[in-house]
Amino acid sequence: MFKKILIANRGEIACRVMKSASEMGIRTVAVFSDADKRSLHVRRADEAVHIGPSQASESYLSIERILEAIRETGADAVHPGYGFLSENKDFAEALESEGVAFVGPPVAAIEAMGDKITSKKLAKDAGVPTVPGHLGLIESGDEAVQVANGIGFPVMIKASAGGGGKGMRIAWSENEVREGFQSSRSEAAGSFGDDRIFMEKFIDRPRHIEIQVLADKHGNCIFLNERECSIQRRNQKIIEEAPSPFLDEETRASMGAQAVALAKAADYHSVGTVEFIVDAERNFYFIEMNTRLQVEHPVTELITGVDIVAEMIGIAAGEKLKLEQKDVVAGGWAFESRIYAEDPYRNFLPSIGRLSRYRPPPEDVGGAASIRNDTGVIEGDEISIHYDPMIAKLCTWGEDREEAMDSMRKSLDSFEIEGIACNISFLSAVFDNPRFISGHITTSFIADEFPDGFCGVELPDQTLQRLVAAVAVFQVISETRRTQISGQLSNNARPVGREWNVSFDDKAFNVGVANSNKAYSASFDDGTRVIVETSWQPGQSLASISADDAELTLKVDPISGGFRIRHRGTDIRASVRAPRHAELGALMAKKMPSDMSKQLLCPMPGLLVSLQVSVGDEVESGQALCVIEAMKMENILKAERTARIKSISANPGDILTIDKVILEFE
Ligand code: ADP
Ligand code: ADP
Ligand code: MG
Repeated sequence: MFKKILIANRGEIACRVMKSASEMGIRTVAVFSDADKRSLHVRRADEAVHIGPSQASESYLSIERILEAIRETGADAVHPGYGFLSENKDFAEALESEGVAFVGPPVAAIEAMGDKITSKKLAKDAGVPTVPGHLGLIESGDEAVQVANGIGFPVMIKASAGGGGKGMRIAWSENEVREGFQSSRSEAAGSFGDDRIFMEKFIDRPRHIEIQVLADKHGNCIFLNERECSIQRRNQKIIEEAPSPFLDEETRASMGAQAVALAKAADYHSVGTVEFIVDAERNFYFIEMNTRLQVEHPVTELITGVDIVAEMIGIAAGEKLKLEQKDVVAGGWAFESRIYAEDPYRNFLPSIGRLSRYRPPPEDVGGAASIRNDTGVIEGDEISIHYDPMIAKLCTWGEDREEAMDSMRKSLDSFEIEGIACNISFLSAVFDNPRFISGHITTSFIADEFPDGFCGVELPDQTLQRLVAAVAVFQVISETRRTQISGQLSNNARPVGREWNVSFDDKAFNVGVANSNKAYSASFDDGTRVIVETSWQPGQSLASISADDAELTLKVDPISGGFRIRHRGTDIRASVRAPRHAELGALMAKKMPSDMSKQLLCPMPGLLVSLQVSVGDEVESGQALCVIEAMKMENILKAERTARIKSISANPGDILTIDKVILEFE
């Protein structure tokens, strides 16, 4: 077995690999860039080597820097994690010539599978069904149209070197094919330095289901069942589960057999994932093979009990698989929620800043309902524009799907992240969505269910009333505390008001609160009452309450004149006033929002890559104005209507803050 493993990665996956390595008695080496000096993965490792500046190209993506770190520490193996150099054959080759083990597949398999055209050909030859399409390179818009007509619309235009959902376009018409071909090609050239494009049939509303394979160097290959990864935005996964609610035993066995056949045809060893899309009739089609540890591997670990990272390390060290196919037993149900530093209310744009609060729910692995949180951050960390915005993977396991979902809802409710925007409220909304709950999901679930983007969830009236009651109770508790702080004895303290007006958006409620000890009775104008029990105290940011016997976890922040309450997919700013103040408030003139329609504001913090217009230009609706890049994502900002550019107040190369004015229209 290896003595020392260097992990050529950062964040949660570096921490995850170190965990298994340490348990196997192997020493661990972290590498880090300037931005990561104090990161969790550096603290978790036995040794750490600085490898360069924050830009990934000069640090985590630099083969030379990593090789130097290996020589410096004498590591005898390297685990690449995912992303970065994990599917880079030059890296695997460089390690080979250095005499260091690569904890991953053989170079030839990386090469064959890293390319979508080559891998589809390989799959076809191995008898694995692939998405119908054209397996040649497409050189021009005209050729693209011709090929699309041959395949039949709609089509998917793809970059052969593609990954991470980039370089991919759907086209429903000849015009869209021409446009999509050009934009796919330039995105591919920019992202992968490789502009080869091919095309396949676009399968409308499929599921994404993938098979985890494990293969050793002795010809043994097994599969650890499937993961359902249909919940995606921008063709990237955000919620995964195992098993898939859609597969029957027969389809599972057949997909597994195909995945194993493909791995064997590629002389594969290590862990890998064969991705399929599956149509409504359970026809499945190969789309690609990822020759690395997958982000969502924990859900498979939770249902099979196999430590996939430990297996991966063992295989690289030449060990035989400990399991045979018949030994693979899957039990229960597991979910993974990817927690991203992104703003669900702003079209999921990345968010940066300091994690002023980071309190995940306590882990509880191995219990009746397990909670696992794979993370790479700690409170106080800075989330920068340099890397992927994923900060944690919250996983839950239960005896069945219902139990695992319920545990996820509770865990999301008690997961505290402040200082940056994050997608927790959106994830909660998905776990409360009836279609998601029914398991009838496809890759267009988010587009179908949130057609206008995410704008928070309307809570059922009953839950809403409970939250309003809770707000009134929090007010009474806070007021009581204030009277105590004034130093007076409680028996002659000034009386705390019992009648409160709670309002948010355009709703207002009068609530009367009576209490004995920790039980409060909140009564409403219509005569209804909610009994609230809580031991919440001012200063606590999480409140567990029981409202009419329902157990709820709320995030509570005092704001000027009230409380901000977050629960599931809602985020409300409730103002609390004495009834007399509320009456007067209703008579005040409303402040009009300022007219921002003449300005183009930067929607996310990032780098202004290029400006497509100059002062005086006449632009049309849909025309590109500029390109902003942050966290591996390029965003083209477009004109929303015909207008003339009056002034420009940013230059290419500038780092822009959120809401910075980029240009003004006349
Ligand atoms: P998966 O199917 O596992 O989500 P992807 O191809 O989307 O696979 O990417 C794998 C993971 O690696 C994703 O979380 C992605 O954000 C991350 N990733 C991809 N490219 C990079 C990169 N250049 N730097 C850092 N992380 C990356
Ligand atoms: P990447 O390398 O970026 O992960 P994939 O080829 O795995 O690219 O595709 C990513 C996602 O795009 C899939 O999970 C699926 O949702 C969607 N997709 C890919 N190919 C097709 C297709 N032919 N028809 C419909 N959806 C597709
Ligand atoms: Mg993929």
